[in-house]
Amino acid sequence: YTSKMAVCPCAQEQHLGRGTRTNIYLGSLLVWGREEEEEEEDEEDKWNNNLTDRKEIRVVLKILDQSHKDIALAFFETASLMSQVSHSHLVFVHGVSVKGSENVMVEEFVEFGPLDVFLRRERALVTPQWKYTVAKQLASALSYLETKQLVHGNVCAKNILVARRGLEEGTFPFVKLSDPGIALNVLSREERVERIPWIAPECVPSGAPIGSAADQWSFGATLLEICNNGDLPMSGSTLTEKERFYETRSRLTEPSSQELASFISMCLTYEPRERPSFRTVLRELTELQIKNPDISPLESLPDANP
Ligand code: ATP
Ligand code: MG
Repeated sequence: YTSKMAVCPCAQEQHLGRGTRTNIYLGSLLVWGREEEEEEEDEEDKWNNNLTDRKEIRVVLKILDQSHKDIALAFFETASLMSQVSHSHLVFVHGVSVKGSENVMVEEFVEFGPLDVFLRRERALVTPQWKYTVAKQLASALSYLETKQLVHGNVCAKNILVARRGLEEGTFPFVKLSDPGIALNVLSREERVERIPWIAPECVPSGAPIGSAADQWSFGATLLEICNNGDLPMSGSTLTEKERFYETRSRLTEPSSQELASFISMCLTYEPRERPSFRTVLRELTELQIKNPDISPLESLPDANP
């Protein structure tokens, strides 16, 4: 356990799903109040003397499958990276727990779950302004990482978590980008191909991202996913079809709004250097939102457009 933290014995609760080589469970974590961290008591005394200042918070436990050392190392590196960054639109990682042969990442539980599922469920209530707000929050987290020269590498609607619904009159949504999980370069080629069309084309062969450009592509694909209420074409495609899609430099169908379409296509450029920085993305999104407040999402799911 990281210091000042202990997973409560009853920690592992409901199974939330499977990720890339992980199983995700709801859990609870016992934490001590901040004030006590200053005092010179040892850990054991805290447990015994300050029972009232202990509180239990809900977390997710990402349990890594039994795996090769390289994978476990990459998993720890991600946890370490996530616990070193701090941004309101990045999920909070409490730390890792190594229990026997079990490697667990302990992460903030975000109440309303992944954005793709949320959009499919609430599509009737979600407005274009709601989507712009979410897109800007995501861009601000990625812009923060960009200034630190950090690459996320796994941006998609599934990895954006909804902390506030923002569907009621006068309220706004609030989202957090989740951890990227196992780094692309240690995943198999097949796992990278599966991530088409979110993964940047240049990352498919080796999984080595060329700076933030990889995230800029994924951001474009995620924006389309948001426009389409959580659906992207190709979800039913085979691995061969997916590979072929990038090999032939095909383009995804863009939304009907001309301005938004050209903005998204800037992100979805096969040449990494031609993609806009997140600084630019943030500025342009703000302008688009003001100039084009009523863009409606695509009525139906478009086909891939080779
Ligand atoms: P990947 O690296 O591919 O993203 P992962 O281990 O992060 O894999 P996900 O597929 O992203 O796993 O998550 C699996 C499911 O767990 C999600 O669909 C969601 O329901 C749930 N989940 C993950 N993280 C959180 C969180 N922080 N709060 C609430 N639910 C979460
Ligand atoms: Mg994830």
